[in-house]
Amino acid sequence: MTYATQPTASHFINGSYVEDTAGTPIEVIYPATGKVIATVHAATPAIIEQALDAAKAAQKAWAAISGTERGRILRRAAEIMRVRNHDLSVLETWDTGKPYQETSVVDATSGADALEYYGGMAATLTGEHIQLGENWVYTRREALGVCVGIGAWNYPTQIACWKGAPALACGNAMVFKPSETTPLCALKVAEILHEAGLPAGLYNVIQGMGEVGGALVTDPRVNKVSLTGSVPTGRKVYAAAAAGIKHVTMELGGKSPMIVFEDADIENAVSGAILGNFYSSGQVCSNGTRVFVHTAIKEAFLARLSERLGHAVIGDPMDPETSFGPMVSRRQLDIVLGYIEKGKAEGARLVTGGAAIEGAGFFLQPTVFADVTDDMVIAREEIFGPVMAVLDFEDEADVMARANDTEFGLAAGVFTRDLARAHRVAAGFEAGTCYINTYNDAPVEAPFGGMKASGVGRENARAAIEHYSQLKSVFVRMDDVEAPF
Ligand code: NAD
Repeated sequence: MTYATQPTASHFINGSYVEDTAGTPIEVIYPATGKVIATVHAATPAIIEQALDAAKAAQKAWAAISGTERGRILRRAAEIMRVRNHDLSVLETWDTGKPYQETSVVDATSGADALEYYGGMAATLTGEHIQLGENWVYTRREALGVCVGIGAWNYPTQIACWKGAPALACGNAMVFKPSETTPLCALKVAEILHEAGLPAGLYNVIQGMGEVGGALVTDPRVNKVSLTGSVPTGRKVYAAAAAGIKHVTMELGGKSPMIVFEDADIENAVSGAILGNFYSSGQVCSNGTRVFVHTAIKEAFLARLSERLGHAVIGDPMDPETSFGPMVSRRQLDIVLGYIEKGKAEGARLVTGGAAIEGAGFFLQPTVFADVTDDMVIAREEIFGPVMAVLDFEDEADVMARANDTEFGLAAGVFTRDLARAHRVAAGFEAGTCYINTYNDAPVEAPFGGMKASGVGRENARAAIEHYSQLKSVFVRMDDVEAPF
């Protein structure tokens, strides 16, 4: 195995690595072997205090420099990330178990894209001028202040950058808490940002479980909270932020539909279904896990899907040939196995997979159920693992009603050669991120986020700027002030 440079301490505060061994130890387990590869310590109240103090103290001076200067630092950080892509990808593989084949092209690279994109945008952030006769109003786009980012474990580097880059571009400071399951990568993001010239205190990383996240969210110094996590956590964090009238971005879970019409290119639809169910071993929030396939092509679709799943290379994530890695943790493996048992018990037809793979690590076979009905648990709840549910349909109006009959609204996809139908269906989806003849693309240039219970606000694109800045209106009178007395 090629060794990545590990972070040297648990936290990164005010421009340096910081340790406090009084915090609860958190073991970092390599999912491919089940072995402990590092131990970090949860933030103690003293560490939380240090991080928030540092952020608060640094933010105003950062917001006062020009966007061009802020952007230059972010772009420099993007360059460093790209140069270190190999090391960062190895670390991401250790943290998550995702194959190097994926991490080397998706994780640090998409983080670098965000730093580069917002680095370019920082200089363009402006208010506007509104003429009112001889008088006028201008708006100033101002930073929010101290932003808290809380991450999930499936894309640790990407999440740290998708939150950090727009926050910093707008002149905010950030305190980021990664998932306790994958604590390592965000520390490297902090290290690189500071190496690129980011002044101390503007991007801090502290470790911990939900309590540390909770302490950050309720602190009066914090102006905004951006969470990537499950819907139940989102409800708690949103409620806690609401008590302090704080800005929020909520990137939460989903149970997204993918509809494959009878005229679809089957090979492309199968590719989309594979990307939308088995990439990152199915641990992707926007996955299209309810695959509605028209009955006319259902058996052909299932046959080709099973054949192609046979080509998945399951094994050592560091082997560049490996295309399917383990689940992130024993806990997640057990949760997904529990759903597979529910699927079997409820009468879904197991087409392929369905079992854990013997040996070290948390490996699970890619699993496909057919003849799934809308009321089954595996069609209603987010599984967050490599389990695809294939459902039958015949009529467009009927399948649209079923596709939207869920509390979630993160993503949705349609495969068809009929252009009018494709756009009609996309317009009808109650989901924030929709795909026509593709699935799970997430370029930084496009807004990403959910409707309904899947989220509030958007990440990426210019849209994210709205969620990391606020407008101040300044009224200017050129003539005399008229008063009633
Ligand atoms: P999770 O909800 O268990 O935890 C997410 C984060 O919230 C962790 O850092 C956790 O420590 C923290 N947390 C937990 N309780 C908290 C509390 N009371 N206050 C503050 N912070 C708290 O999610 P997970 O298991 O780490 O990740 C999987 C979930 O994330 C899935 O539901 C998935 O769909 C979702 N996700 C969404 C997106 C998106 O962009 N929409 C992206 C990735 C993952």
